[in-house]
Amino acid sequence: MGRHTRHIVVERAPALFIIPCGDHNCVDGGYDMTHAVLRKLSDSAASFEGEVECRGWANGSPCTRRLHLVAHAVYSPSAPRSDHEV
Ligand SMILES: [Zn+2]
Repeated sequence: MGRHTRHIVVERAPALFIIPCGDHNCVDGGYDMTHAVLRKLSDSAASFEGEVECRGWANGSPCTRRLHLVAHAVYSPSAPRSDHEV
């Protein structure tokens, strides 16, 4: 598993935070952290962590991969912005 940081400008991005599953055998996989992220952003949280389970299937059984989210959000009146380190 690689480590990468994504910088997302919320004002311009669609309000959707879905990270693809890294398992090539996984079907319909992905981590949907939209609700967790937007809830935290609406609380003006400066930083938060979360864990999301893959919703896909691998080899006929549920994919059990989990993704840990560490986010640091910076808010400004004109351009809400948050950095998500995944
Ligand atoms: Zn998966």
